[in-house]
Amino acid sequence: MTITELKDNMTTSIDHTLDKIIPLLEESGNQADQECIFPDKLLKVLKEIGLLSLLIPRKYGGRGGRTTDVIHLIEKVSAYCATTGTILMFHYQVVKRILQFGSVKQKEKYLPMLAKGKLGASAWTEPNSGANKHGLAANLKRSQNGYVINGQKSFCTSAGKADIYTVLVKSEETHHEMSDTFGLGNQSFVILELTDKGISFGETWNGMGMKGTSTSEIILENCYIPTDRIIGEHGDGTAIMKANRNSAIHPGIIGLGLSSKAFQVALTYAKKRNLTNHQVIRFYLSDMKTHLEATKLIVYKAGEYADNGTPKEAELYTMMSKVLVANNSIHITNMALQILGGKGYLQEYIVERLYRDARALALMGPTSELCKEIIFKESSEKESSEDKT
Ligand SMILES: Cc1cc2nc3c(=O)[nH]c(=O)nc-3n(C[C@H](O)[C@H](O)[C@H](O)COP(=O)(O)OP(=O)(O)OC[C@H]3O[C@@H](n4cnc5c(N)ncnc54)[C@H](O)[C@@H]3O)c2cc1C
Repeated sequence: MTITELKDNMTTSIDHTLDKIIPLLEESGNQADQECIFPDKLLKVLKEIGLLSLLIPRKYGGRGGRTTDVIHLIEKVSAYCATTGTILMFHYQVVKRILQFGSVKQKEKYLPMLAKGKLGASAWTEPNSGANKHGLAANLKRSQNGYVINGQKSFCTSAGKADIYTVLVKSEETHHEMSDTFGLGNQSFVILELTDKGISFGETWNGMGMKGTSTSEIILENCYIPTDRIIGEHGDGTAIMKANRNSAIHPGIIGLGLSSKAFQVALTYAKKRNLTNHQVIRFYLSDMKTHLEATKLIVYKAGEYADNGTPKEAELYTMMSKVLVANNSIHITNMALQILGGKGYLQEYIVERLYRDARALALMGPTSELCKEIIFKESSEKESSEDKT
């Protein structure tokens, strides 16, 4: 069997596995939106069938997959339940962060736990520190044999549900002085566990969409951690955030799944009601399909660069794909809503939910505005270096 066939097997295996649990995926999507229920039942099944361990190397008990496999998984799941797509996206960001930047000891401890189905979550946003990280206040101070953290994180998906958290904090000590679009060099990522003393969670936010994600505050009050919980060195937080944002596992990819669902629903409805007799409806559908396929191409290209390209290629394509898919998802779900007419506005039809869920994609970090800053910086640097040759 060739390597390409082996790789394709993973994608086919994800499809086959998910096809068997479509009723559960649908039930989770409805319950998350209508009753704000965290999809515990679905996550338990995904864990049992090995879909929480795709990126984790086999030596740590994972399936040794690629970024493009994770993209495929999140795309497929999000067609039924974007809430679960969001939870998986943050889980895999944590996996990638520990895999890329964790110490040998951290990898040996946390990757097998994540491979067995412990859930990962990540928190960097604070009341005064969002897209920019300059106002970060949660701070890490040395104490006897370890560190103590005090502060508050304002958004964390899977808060109180996840077992392992990567949290951005301000370090007392710093080995780096640097600044970039994301902030300063006095920040560090630490690993927190749900059972750590001094960690608690606020009320779950009631958002416009992405309900059931258990997104809430994290409160850190004299939260003690041993010294081996810092990822990389003190002050590496910004660099890790930057490297991670190129991982191509970004919120936009959830839009691939929910947009393809919106297209299918609109096409089926238009055919059933003979709306395709109207050129304007045919053109709406053609436009949706074109946007969908264009988005898919660039997202998977970003995934390939994340697996095999240079960091610069990965960064540029990841940022461009994030902006494009977030925009296109709003456009496609909006068109679908229009095609369904008044029914599109009713909660009993899925399109209304897809539209609300799509709106979150440009907001979840990195925001589309920040992505555009990075796209400009990367492409203008590239143009200038090409001018010189
Ligand atoms: C459903 C959902 C789930 C989330 N889950 C998590 C999570 O798990 N963990 C977590 O840490 N956060 C999470 N977030 C928070 C999200 O990452 C932040 O909302 C985002 O980073 C923006 O921060 P902010 O809300 O403070 O906005 P601000 O930083 O105040 O930004 C407001 C606006 O100004 C723009 N802006 C700010 N600075 C710049 C700049 N330098 N250049 C150009 N434009 C700029 C922003 O793009 C935005 O449009 C979640 C958000 C949502 C909606």
